[in-house]
Amino acid sequence: MKRGASEFDLIRRYFTRPAPSAALGVGDDAALLRVGRGMELAVSTDTLVSGTHFFPDADPFLLGHKTLAVNLSDLAAMGAQPRWALLSLSLPVADERWLERFSAGFFALAEQYGVELVGGDTTRGPINLCVTILGEVPQGAALRRDGAKTGDDVWVSGSLGSAALALAHKRGTVRLLPAEFASCAAALHQPVPRVALGLALRGVAHSAIDISDGLLADLGHILENSAAGAEIEFDALPVPDVLRALSSQGSGEMAQHCALAGGDDYELCFTAPVSRRTEVESISGRSSLPLARIGSIVAGGGCIVRAPDGSAIHLEKSGYDHFR
Ligand code: ADP
Ligand code: MG
Repeated sequence: MKRGASEFDLIRRYFTRPAPSAALGVGDDAALLRVGRGMELAVSTDTLVSGTHFFPDADPFLLGHKTLAVNLSDLAAMGAQPRWALLSLSLPVADERWLERFSAGFFALAEQYGVELVGGDTTRGPINLCVTILGEVPQGAALRRDGAKTGDDVWVSGSLGSAALALAHKRGTVRLLPAEFASCAAALHQPVPRVALGLALRGVAHSAIDISDGLLADLGHILENSAAGAEIEFDALPVPDVLRALSSQGSGEMAQHCALAGGDDYELCFTAPVSRRTEVESISGRSSLPLARIGSIVAGGGCIVRAPDGSAIHLEKSGYDHFR
C-alpha cells in the first residue's frame, strides 16, 4: 500500500473514467444525465456486505464484477437498458492493490454492458459495496412483478442452483469434484446478468423478476404482486447435471433446496402467455440462452411444486431472507 493517497487521489486513480454519454460525470457535486425522449428512468440499488454476500478474503476482481452484476440483473428484470452507475464504497483501509483489482473487475463488466460510472462516495468504515444503477426503458414498457395472468407459462433462464451448490461445498455440506466445484464457483462469483434477455422480453413477457433469493422466494413476489398462484414441475427446472446427480445419490433434499431456494442465481424468472411460446423459444435460440418452461400461473395464491409422481414438494425454507 502506498501511503498518503487521499480520498480524492483514490477516486481519480480508480474510479474516474470517461463517461461520454453523461452531460457531467465524476468530479462535481452531482452528475448530470440526459434521458431519451419517451423513456423512463429505471433506478435500482443493491449492496454487498462482507460476511453476508461475500467472504472477507474474496478476490477483489470478482467482487468488482459481482457488485455491478447484481445491479445489472435488476435492470435486466425490468427490461431496461443499463446506462449509468454510482458506486458507494466503504473501506477499512485504502489498500491500492485491492482497489486496482476491484475497479478492474467493475469496469470490465461496465464496458461489456455500456455502463458509465458517473459518481459515488468513498468513505472509511467496515467494508460495504453499494451500487446504484440507472437505465432507460420506453414509457410503459418495463417488465414488472405485477403483470402475471392466469394461464401464463412460467419460464426460467439459464440454470438454477449452481451458486448454492458452490456455497454448500465451501461449508462442507456437500462434496463436489474439483471440476464441478469450479463451474459452480464461477456461477457464484461471476454471475452473468441477463440484460439482453430482459430487453428481448419487452412486449412479450407479462411479468419478470431476477432470481437473487431463490426461485420460490422470487417467483413468490410475482405471485403476491400479481394476486396469482403457480404450479411448477420440479423435473422441468433447469439444473446442472451435478445437481441432478445429487438427487439420485440420496441427497434429494439438498438438490431441492439448491434449485428452489438457493439464491444468488441471477437468472430471470418471467411469465408469458401461451400464445407467445414460439416467440420465447426463438428469443432463446437467438441469444443462445436456454429458457425452460417450468410451469403455469393459476388462480389463487402460493406456489405448488410437484414431484414427478404428482406429490407436492415442501421446503423448510423457501429462500434467503436477511432477517429470518
Ligand atoms: P461530495 O463531498 O460533494 O459529496 P465526494 O468527495 O463524495 O463529493 O465525491 C467527489 C466526486 O467523486 C463526486 O463526483 C462523486 O460522485 C465522485 N465519487 C466519489 N467516490 C466515488 C466512487 N467510489 N466511484 C465513482 N465516483 C465517486
Ligand atoms: Mg460524497
